[in-house]
Amino acid sequence: MPNATYPNTQLLIAGEWQDAADGRTLPVVNPATGLEIGRVAHAGIADLDRALAAVASGFAAWRDTSAFDRAKKMRRAAALVRERAPEIAVMLTQEQGKPLVQAKMETLLAADIIEWFADEGMRVYGRIVPSRKSTVSQMVVKDPVGPVAAFTPWNFPINQVVRKAAAALATGCSILVKAAEETPAAPAALIRAFVDAGLPPGAVGLVYGNPDEISRYLIAHPVIRKVTFTGSTPVGKHLAALAGQHMKRVTMELGGHAPVIVAEDADLNLAVKSCAAAKFVNAGQVCISPTRFLVHDSLADAFAEGMAKYASDLRLGDGLQEETQMGPLANPRRLEAMAAFTEDAVQCGARLLTGGQRVGDKGNFFAPTVFADVPLEARIFNDEPFGPLIGIRRFSQLEEAIAEANRLSFGLAAYAYTASLKNAHLLAQRIEVGMLWINQPAMPSAEMPFGGIKDSGYGSEGGPEALEAYLNTRTVTIANV
Ligand code: NAD
Repeated sequence: MPNATYPNTQLLIAGEWQDAADGRTLPVVNPATGLEIGRVAHAGIADLDRALAAVASGFAAWRDTSAFDRAKKMRRAAALVRERAPEIAVMLTQEQGKPLVQAKMETLLAADIIEWFADEGMRVYGRIVPSRKSTVSQMVVKDPVGPVAAFTPWNFPINQVVRKAAAALATGCSILVKAAEETPAAPAALIRAFVDAGLPPGAVGLVYGNPDEISRYLIAHPVIRKVTFTGSTPVGKHLAALAGQHMKRVTMELGGHAPVIVAEDADLNLAVKSCAAAKFVNAGQVCISPTRFLVHDSLADAFAEGMAKYASDLRLGDGLQEETQMGPLANPRRLEAMAAFTEDAVQCGARLLTGGQRVGDKGNFFAPTVFADVPLEARIFNDEPFGPLIGIRRFSQLEEAIAEANRLSFGLAAYAYTASLKNAHLLAQRIEVGMLWINQPAMPSAEMPFGGIKDSGYGSEGGPEALEAYLNTRTVTIANV
C-alpha cells in the first residue's frame, strides 16, 4: 500500500486557498472503508460573491493574455500535473475508490488534455470575408464568452474538471468550478497546478458547498456567461432550464445507457474481452459504460458465459492495494441502487449468472453482476445503472437490435461488434448517439468530440467543437470614410 495521507480541501478564491468565511466544512469519506478521511470547506453566499468578483477580474487579465502566453502557462500546469501524478492518484483513490492504476491514468490523461487544448487555443481563428464593396472589409471575430460556471461529478473527479477547465482557459475564459463535495481533493490538486503555473488570480476558482444553492446563485449571477455541467439527466435538465431563464450559454454532458450490439458475424473473443474489461472500469460508474448488451442468438450463451466468468474472477478490494481490479462504489447511494436494480431484474425474470449482492459489510463493495435474458421491462434495461451490472438480451435480426438501441431517450455512447463493413456502415448511420465505437472499447481523446444527443445533453467536450462552446462569434465590418 502506498503511503496514504489525505488533505483537507479549501476553497480557491482570487488565487488564495482559504476556508469558508463562516468556517463550515463537510466530511469526506473513503468508500473502501466508510471512514471519514478529511474535510472540505463549504462555501456560503459571501464566499460565492468573492469568488464571482475574482472570476470577473481574472477574466479581464486572462482574456488579455496572448494565446501564445496562455498556452505556455497551460503547458506548465500540465507538467506539474504529470510531476505530481503519483500523489494526486493516491488522493483520488482514497476519496473515490477506483484502483490506483486507473487513478494514475486519469491524472496523466489530464496532463495530455491540458496540452492538447493549450495548443488548440493558439488556433482559434476568425475569418476575413470578401465584401460586396471594395471600401468595406468584413471580419468574423471569435472571442471568449466570459467567466464560466462549471459543475462536475464524483465519478471522474479530475477528468470531468479538466475537460471543462482546459477548453475554457485555452480560449481566454476564466472558470469557477464547483466540483463534487464527495471527491474534493483530486480536483483541487488539478486546479492547484494551474495556480502554481502562474495563471492570474481569479482566472480559475474552486468552490464546494450545497450544489443546489451554488448552482442557482452562480447561474443567475450576471458575471457568469456560460454554464457547463456533467451529471445526471434530471439535474442537467434542471440546470439547463435555469440557464435558459438567464440566457446563459450551456454545455450538458449527461447520463447514458450505452447499447452494445454483438452481431452474428462478430469476433466473439474480442467482444467478450473488450466489453468485460470496459464494463468494470471505475466499477461501472462511467457515463459511457457499456450497459445494454444485445447479442445475436447464435452467440448469446457463449457471450454471457464469457462475461460471467470475467466478472466472477475479478478481485475486489481497496483501490490502494496493488492486486485490486475493481474498487468499491463511490457512495452508499450507488450500493442501494445496485441492490434495487438486482431485485427488480430477478423479479422480472432475468437469469442472474453471477454477483447480485453486496460484498462484506464495510465500504461500498458490490459484486460484479451479470444477468442474461433480461426482459425489456426490467429497470436495468431502462434506467442508467451506473454500477457494475451487465444485462444481456438476445436478438435475431440486426434491425431489431438497432430499434432497441434507439428505444430509450438517452443518446450518449454505443458499441458494436461485427466483421462486416456493410453492418458497420448501417450502424454508423442508424444508431442515435453522440459516440459510436465499432470493434473496440471506448477510446475518448482530447482531439475527438465527446458528448451526447437526445436526453444525454448537448455540446461537446473534445475536439475543436469544445473550444467553440467557450467562444462568441461576432461580425465586424469597417468602411472607409
Ligand atoms: P445526482 O443526480 O443528485 O447528482 C449527480 C451530480 O450532479 C453530482 O455530482 C451532484 O453533486 C450534482 N448535482 C446534483 N444536484 C445539483 C444541483 N442542483 N446543482 C448542481 N449540481 C448538482 O445523483 P448522484 O447520486 O450524485 O449520482 C447518481 C446519478 O448521476 C447516476 O445514476 C448517474 O446517472 C449520474 N451521474 C452521471 C455522471 C456522468 O458522468 N454523466 C457522473 C456522475 C453521476
